[in-house]
Amino acid sequence: MATLTQTRPAAPKARPIHGDKRDAGAQSLIYLFLLVPMAALAAAVPIAWSTGLLSWTDIALAVGFYLLTLHGVTVGFHRLFTHGSFKPNRPVKITLAILGSMSVQGPLITWVADHRRHHAFSDREGDPHSPWLYGTSAWALSRGFWHAHMGWMFQPRNTTNEERFAPDLRRDRDLVMVDRLFPLWTLATLLLPAVLGGLITMSWQGALTAFFWAGLVRISALHHATWSTNSICHMMGERPFKSRDKAANFWPLALLSGGESWHNSHHADQTCARHGVKRGQIDTSARVIRLIEQAGWATDVKWPTPERLAKLAAD
Ligand SMILES: [Zn+2]
Ligand SMILES: [Zn+2]
Repeated sequence: MATLTQTRPAAPKARPIHGDKRDAGAQSLIYLFLLVPMAALAAAVPIAWSTGLLSWTDIALAVGFYLLTLHGVTVGFHRLFTHGSFKPNRPVKITLAILGSMSVQGPLITWVADHRRHHAFSDREGDPHSPWLYGTSAWALSRGFWHAHMGWMFQPRNTTNEERFAPDLRRDRDLVMVDRLFPLWTLATLLLPAVLGGLITMSWQGALTAFFWAGLVRISALHHATWSTNSICHMMGERPFKSRDKAANFWPLALLSGGESWHNSHHADQTCARHGVKRGQIDTSARVIRLIEQAGWATDVKWPTPERLAKLAAD
């Protein structure tokens, strides 16, 4: 089981696992960015049907920005910055950090610290978003689902000590800069689709509908795809590999999550660059990493080997 400890920080145990309490302003911003895109999504479908305010340009921009920001999170924030699955060159590193930030899931270093704490305590006390912390009755699991999906971000004290869990990122000046500029990436991810929509259609309406569909709706859709890995993929699915938590492979989310829903495989072998390790398991993030490697922009990619997979297989 040596692999399970590979990405765990070696900081002294005496340090607290929590960072400072979030202030009211930061907490309000979290409410704003979680709830406004969701409200937009709920309103979107009837508006589209009744008024026709949805064009192919909006759909193309929404899909394009979804794919860019999805892989910014899965390839960048998760497989690279949290788990060190490969070594990129500097432009790729910075690009992935910016694209991941444009998913509006919080600043890079905060995201990575939270996710490393998740692996360090997965499904036990200390895990920031386990669905199993309240018990196993139907009510406890509903509560757990909500907590794991998004409720955990509404808890001002549920923060992670970045000094303990992400000291490596705090030493990287490029990454600290991208982390600090999080408000700028948030603005960019909302305004770029609007500017492109306006220029392509040469109309204010085109700018507005692109802002709505490729900005707000796309951000919310990606939020839920990402959060489902924390909630659904720790509750239901198959567990073909040994892992000491409840992480499971849930195939219906493979495409939308960029391969992150092969979550049992990931928890069993955290540094592996491919999560969909079995034949036919869609993992577009692994494909992106392969393309980066083939272009000569990354080295030391940790690809799975048959021997390793055999060792990690559940009995
Ligand atoms: Zn997990
Ligand atoms: Zn992970």
